[in-house]
Amino acid sequence: MLSPLDIRDRVEHLKASLPPTTRLIAVSKYAPVAAMRAAYGAGIRDFGESRVQDAAAKRLELADLTDITWHLIGHLQTNKVRQALTLFDWIHTVDRLKLAERINAILAETGQTAPRCLLQVKLRPDPHKYGWERSQLEAALPHLDRLPHLHCHGLMTILPLGLPPTEQLQVFRELRAWGETLSRKGWQRLQWQEYSMGMSQDYPLAVQAGATMVRVGTAIFGSRTIGTSLIETN
Ligand SMILES: *Cc1c(COP(=O)(O)O)cnc(C)c1O
Repeated sequence: MLSPLDIRDRVEHLKASLPPTTRLIAVSKYAPVAAMRAAYGAGIRDFGESRVQDAAAKRLELADLTDITWHLIGHLQTNKVRQALTLFDWIHTVDRLKLAERINAILAETGQTAPRCLLQVKLRPDPHKYGWERSQLEAALPHLDRLPHLHCHGLMTILPLGLPPTEQLQVFRELRAWGETLSRKGWQRLQWQEYSMGMSQDYPLAVQAGATMVRVGTAIFGSRTIGTSLIETN
């Protein structure tokens, strides 16, 4: 683990390089709770986790830090939705209709506060990533708009590996432009103000293209210090 001082320096450097309106999500999926406490001490209040069970354990260990906002950034299996809804304030990875319907149904049943959701999309073909392709999402939107408990606030994307930098900026710009086009269509419920894009390697480009949230892991915590699973899914 990096020292708390190193983590503090990294957070401060990052914050200074981001516009004040961009939400910095510290992706702590490979970080121990001691590192998360250091980031918290440097002012981080948003943490991103990819796995439901890791978030459950960390929430317990960090229960004294009551003002953390928890973001789910990993793929969510339908059978983990109920638990995820008790743990996360934001779900960035609504990537299929069945998942959206399941979230809606459980919230209808329990009456608990709905997390804010983002729709995960792929603007370039990528067999290694989950997410809606453009035409799939456009076909699903009228249905998503009718789910009363689903609170969608925008779009999330992960770039395919190895995309050249000029293409990276282009994809981020396409995401923002697409969301703005969609926002003009007069939905009943769907909202389009949030754009979750950009990670340690590419967040400056995402910010340039209008990201409202960046998800930064290694640039804060260094490379993986815990975790052995290579499969980031739930
Ligand atoms: C791991 C992860 C990140 C952070 O990646 P870094 O390269 O470590 O900044 C961001 N978004 C998602 C969806 C991730 O799984």
